[in-house]
Amino acid sequence: MVADPSDPSRPGLDENLADARHHLARFAAHPTGHLIAGESRPSLDGATFTNHSPIDGAVLGEVAAGTAADVARAAEAAAAAFVSWSRTPGTERRRLLHAVADAIEDRAREIALVESVDTGQAIRFMSQAAQRGAANFRFFADRAPGAADGLSLPSEHHLNYTTRQPIGPVGVITPWNTPFMLATWKIAPALAAGCTVVHKPAEWSPLSATLLAEIALEAGLPPGVLNVVHGQGETAGRAVTEHPAIAAIAFVGESATGSLIQAQSAPTLKRLHFELGGKNPVIVFDDADLDRAVDAAAFMIWSLNGERCTSSSRLLVQRGVHDEVVERLAAAAERIRVGHPLDPATVIGPLVHPRHCDKVRTYLQLAEAEGVTVISGRLPDDPSPNHVPPTLFVGADNRMRVAREEIFGPVLTVIAFDDEAEAVALANDVDYGLAAYLWTRDVGRAHRVARDLDVGMVWVNSQNVRHLPTPFGGMKRSGIGRDGGDWSFDFYMETKNVAVAYDTHTVPRLAT
Ligand code: NAD
Repeated sequence: MVADPSDPSRPGLDENLADARHHLARFAAHPTGHLIAGESRPSLDGATFTNHSPIDGAVLGEVAAGTAADVARAAEAAAAAFVSWSRTPGTERRRLLHAVADAIEDRAREIALVESVDTGQAIRFMSQAAQRGAANFRFFADRAPGAADGLSLPSEHHLNYTTRQPIGPVGVITPWNTPFMLATWKIAPALAAGCTVVHKPAEWSPLSATLLAEIALEAGLPPGVLNVVHGQGETAGRAVTEHPAIAAIAFVGESATGSLIQAQSAPTLKRLHFELGGKNPVIVFDDADLDRAVDAAAFMIWSLNGERCTSSSRLLVQRGVHDEVVERLAAAAERIRVGHPLDPATVIGPLVHPRHCDKVRTYLQLAEAEGVTVISGRLPDDPSPNHVPPTLFVGADNRMRVAREEIFGPVLTVIAFDDEAEAVALANDVDYGLAAYLWTRDVGRAHRVARDLDVGMVWVNSQNVRHLPTPFGGMKRSGIGRDGGDWSFDFYMETKNVAVAYDTHTVPRLAT
């Protein structure tokens, strides 16, 4: 569900701007510190970095730039807090995590406004992201009391039973796209499992991580259970992956960074969970409900600025309906509103950072050089320097870079196919394997194609809709492991087997 921008009760741009200014004033007035053992602290060496808004480059404030020494303090705080948090009854963890969810809901508008200005993503989507964050806490809160449950596996001479226990302090490293929602998606199950956390948020969107840690502390989470260290990936992030007290790393970000983290964390043998990049196909067969398929394709590439791991960035469309689908999407692109992210009518806001914007624009030039037809929607009269219009690359083939590489912007590459076998071959012929969307009215074909796609998640006749008990994650270069439901606890917990003999006579006698 997305907030309805035509609802007259919703605040307009001016009211959003005024409220955002109010909530952002504190970040401009004082440098944002790390949050370690329940206290806001500057970096030990006093270093900061400047955080800019992607809307106009305005300075939002200074943020502490963590080093290995700051990470060490946070890891030690997390290790100290782990002793009692890991033994806190699940019912008490449930109570506290629901209190965090309540507090997120109370401050949902503040979170949405701050995040929108910090990332450039439209307020209509950010309002939902804050609510999703609260929902993540509630979902895992309710599972906390049963997280340690295991199996009874009796054998002839022994009663075996399994239990789970939290793995230890964990490092959570998150990216800049929907940073609040993604942080809660990792942190809520870790806390529900009984782990403590050192969170290293993305340096391009640091603010909502501070809000989350503050909210959690105010809601009653004991100091040291959730710590935040800000800073650059190569310093603060790297130090989290190398610290010996950190038992596991939950990472969301680029595939190339995932490779670095694997190498960095090898000497301390950490458990790793990766949610990485994608080049997700939406496959439209000629028997599809074209109205809804086009709406879903447009939504999955042009919501959240296309800066979304599960965006439908490749449209594979059967040749018989290719021209009609392209025509309809081109018309939709023309109507999509690009604008100020705090305007409730805006769908596409400025991309997160000038460097990322340059990268996306490079692909627009590359597309022309590769010989595809580029169809773009409109920019506003007074565009932000980081605005990129909704764009279609038509007439691509799967060997082109625009068809193979993750662009992570509002850019959709269209490729025609003739039959089912070709659709599956094209869909699988990339390095990624996160999600796929499939549009057909033929039930048998839907099941066949879903079976044959090398991806972690398939949606049939649907956009991406999350159901929290289901597994989320990717194959190939899109990730390692799954989140959601009990899969999250499998990562954040160790399984232990206890074997109790019914009778001691089975013990072999070697020496007596
Ligand atoms: P990124 O990999 O550049 O950065 C992610 C985080 O890793 C940041 O906090 C960064 O500071 C940190 N980091 C960078 N280098 C590091 C290092 N050497 N050691 C430790 N930490 C380091 O990713 P990004 O540009 O912030 O995010 C966009 C990417 O995230 C896209 O590829 C997108 O597909 C992916 N993503 C995936 C999912 C998913 O569920 N699969 C969800 C959201 C985003």
